[in-house]
Amino acid sequence: MRAALEAARSGANVAMLSKVYPVRSHSNAAQGGINAALTDRGDDWHEHAYDTVKGSDFLGDQDAIEVMCREAGQELINLEHMGVIFNRDEEGRLGTRALRRTAARPHVLRRRHHGAGDPARDVRADPQVQRSRLRRVVRHGTLITDHGRCGGVVAMEMRTGEVHAIRAKATILATGGLGRVFEPSTNALICTGDGMSLAYRAGAPLMDMEMVQYHPTTLKGSGVLLSEGARGEGAYLINSRGERFMERYAPNMMELASRDVVSRAEITEINEGNDIDGCVLLDCRHLGRAKIMERLMYIHEVAMDLVGVDIIKDPVPIRPGVHYQMGGIKTDVDGRCWDPSGKWKGVEGLFAAGETACVSVHGGNRLGANSLLDTVIFGRRSAEAAMAYASGNNHLEFSEDTWVGGEKAMMQGFLDNSGGDLVARVRLDMATAMDEGLGVYRLEEGMQEALDKVRGMKDRFKNVVVQDKGKAFNTNLIFALELGCMLDCAEAIAVGAIDRKESRGAHSRLDYAARDDENWMKHILLYQGPGNEVTKEYVPIVITQWQPEERKY
Ligand SMILES: Cc1cc2nc3c(=O)[nH]c(=O)nc-3n(C[C@H](O)[C@H](O)[C@H](O)COP(=O)(O)OP(=O)(O)OC[C@H]3O[C@@H](n4cnc5c(N)ncnc54)[C@H](O)[C@@H]3O)c2cc1C
Repeated sequence: MRAALEAARSGANVAMLSKVYPVRSHSNAAQGGINAALTDRGDDWHEHAYDTVKGSDFLGDQDAIEVMCREAGQELINLEHMGVIFNRDEEGRLGTRALRRTAARPHVLRRRHHGAGDPARDVRADPQVQRSRLRRVVRHGTLITDHGRCGGVVAMEMRTGEVHAIRAKATILATGGLGRVFEPSTNALICTGDGMSLAYRAGAPLMDMEMVQYHPTTLKGSGVLLSEGARGEGAYLINSRGERFMERYAPNMMELASRDVVSRAEITEINEGNDIDGCVLLDCRHLGRAKIMERLMYIHEVAMDLVGVDIIKDPVPIRPGVHYQMGGIKTDVDGRCWDPSGKWKGVEGLFAAGETACVSVHGGNRLGANSLLDTVIFGRRSAEAAMAYASGNNHLEFSEDTWVGGEKAMMQGFLDNSGGDLVARVRLDMATAMDEGLGVYRLEEGMQEALDKVRGMKDRFKNVVVQDKGKAFNTNLIFALELGCMLDCAEAIAVGAIDRKESRGAHSRLDYAARDDENWMKHILLYQGPGNEVTKEYVPIVITQWQPEERKY
């Protein structure tokens, strides 16, 4: 939406496609807030950048992190001017009281973390964005490409089942994450990695796909997120013996250590038998009713509704759950999915921003409240670059009939299948295999087993049965298309994870337990080869001012 808005305001002719009404996108679920150093108030964006670099376990590209953190304050003010409401202090200024601590940020916490309105409901949809030119809900089918250049998309209109070719001089993918490749996940059902798969199939590389973030506080059973806000306000993590176990893992930052560190600590406690039914506990009792009802109302409500726990009186069972994909479609700091200097190969005319992209600002582990920032900064920047590209290039020539026909034939193939697995069966098998093989702790054998299973599922997928043969809102067919995307992502995650023979950020291997800066200060790029096999390439991490150091919290 940020990209569409920027382009539309500057006079470009923009079409925005979405598979849900845009304000139902997963961004709407963000609870924690957005980071920004307000430099006019004396915040130093370098501190935010350093925290981000350290949080990334030195895998983030520092040139990109500098861009994001330097531009954050201004972007927040831009959002304000567009009508996004943030919390204010008594003097009516942004963020002195309204601020929260989130994990792994020892400095500048106070002003950097801006929650809007109810702390649980942060960045509200921009009313100007809502007025943008969305008329129909459509789903991307395929990127139209020729000789490594993108000329638009083929998309299905969900309401009618019609397939259209949409010509574009520049195409920006902002399709969000892939959390649903795992189960349970904090992500909405629509987070199925579609954009990553579309770009990958079109010849663009996926980068750092092994870096999947587990959030330490997801509710028992459903995996619904309990935001970092609770720990930011001072909640404890305790095990079955009532110990604040983070003392043993991150004695300084305790519960506020970064997400990968806390998730590993929880799984270690669980594996050592200090769990209650596979969970540890989030304890808010000492915060008191008043603070809980003022600052943690949403968490109170969710815990009550979903597991029947009143967090004022009792601790609530939680465990790590899949939350965010640090990896994604490789882009430069202007969202380009190709390298004009030719160091890596991609797809010209294609741009990506947000969770689907990997700039990379999050490296091996994303900090809380840095993702919304990533979406607005690189959303805007990719629109600027896309407009420049569009004004210097003509439309790609292609035959609409061929592309639309190809897409229809592919969909018809699913409708004609009989005797294969149901979509839901394969989907659950995939998620189970990924949970087992690519969880918080990883081992070569387990990852290989998951990869073999996923590859088997790719075969089963070809025969998957779509029972609904209708045209209008055929969600059964849509789930099948999404499953195809998820399987691409699952395979890429496993291939990247097996390849990276070290532990860094969220990628934690029992067989290579240490970070290996000598061999692994590099990103893994995955391409889909001509026979659908995965091919690999490496690009070095960009270091500007922060040399790798031991990461302690
Ligand atoms: C529960 C939860 C809480 C979070 N809290 C925070 C927080 O407090 N702070 C923070 O910084 N980050 C937070 N995150 C992470 C952050 O919200 C996401 O990373 C971010 O919102 C992703 O934004 P996006 O614009 O990239 O994608 P999304 O908001 O997921 O939007 C993707 C869009 O792409 C469309 N789309 C996808 N596939 C297709 C297709 N095939 N065809 C057509 N359209 C398609 C969808 O319809 C949707 O409109 C949270 C995440 C979760 C799950």
